[in-house]
Amino acid sequence: MHPIKIAVHGGAGTMPKRLMTPEIEKACHNALQNALQAGYELMKNGGSAVDAVEAAVMVLENFELFNAGKGAVFTHEGKHEMDASIMDGKTKRSGAVAAVNNIKNPISLAKAILLHSEHVLLLGAGAEVFAKEQQIPFENDAYFFTQFRFDQLQKAKQRDIIVLDHVDDKKFGTVGCVAMDANGNLAAGTSTGGMTNKSFGRVGDSPIIGSGTYANNTTCAVSCTGHGEFFIENVVAYDISCLMEYKGLSLNEACELVINQKLKSIDAEGGLIAIDHNGNICLPFNTKGMYRGYRKGDDDIFTGIY
Ligand code: ASP
Repeated sequence: MHPIKIAVHGGAGTMPKRLMTPEIEKACHNALQNALQAGYELMKNGGSAVDAVEAAVMVLENFELFNAGKGAVFTHEGKHEMDASIMDGKTKRSGAVAAVNNIKNPISLAKAILLHSEHVLLLGAGAEVFAKEQQIPFENDAYFFTQFRFDQLQKAKQRDIIVLDHVDDKKFGTVGCVAMDANGNLAAGTSTGGMTNKSFGRVGDSPIIGSGTYANNTTCAVSCTGHGEFFIENVVAYDISCLMEYKGLSLNEACELVINQKLKSIDAEGGLIAIDHNGNICLPFNTKGMYRGYRKGDDDIFTGIY
């Protein structure tokens, strides 16, 4: 039996301390704790790491302050186009969706692709047809409307910029989870609304296996958050795994090299959560903060923002 472990994130780049209210801070900690609890309990009852990742990410997708599911940011056209992916470290099989509308929990659609499709990545309308076949729940536009995301879009439009959740005043980001179950199997998943005011069709790193998400039982499981274009070009999640596999680096060394050296040297903002095959957990970020947390046992629980 392996010790059950889980880590989650709610995006790198946080609201400046001066704008953060105790209520918002508490709500974010609660959401992270609820997500950890959902995944942990599931694995304690014999569930797999893949199921735990889905359960934890669903909690974060349902929390309206994070940029995924219900809290997804608005596109330029005033829609919500969401990306998500999940990977099983045991089989190295994965499922991903990009630019989907009205899917309540994009992570569940990604998992349905992993389990029930011969493909890895489904896009837009095609993914939505598959979702209907798999009886994945949809929600109407009103469900995804949140006033503060709408205000963010108006502000971005006035300034004519595309805003990464990390660089606006209100910084709540992409969500993700990595887990190790009692059989020692690893899994990772990531879900996002992308960038405020993004043009129709923009896809970030979150649904790209190897960039935003990666899991391999022999190395580690990784879920990323940050400026997606850089994370795609630097194949960040797979880079962490490769540094362990081919260079013999520890998880900590690999994370330090990628987040605080490679990405920092090109001004690429972001962070990641990772767990290795021995159950070591790393939560590195090169931004002012990252909504994050882990649970390593019944009493060993941590959540942090700054
Ligand atoms: N990586 C995400 C993207 O570029 C954004 C984020 O992590 O907040 O779509």
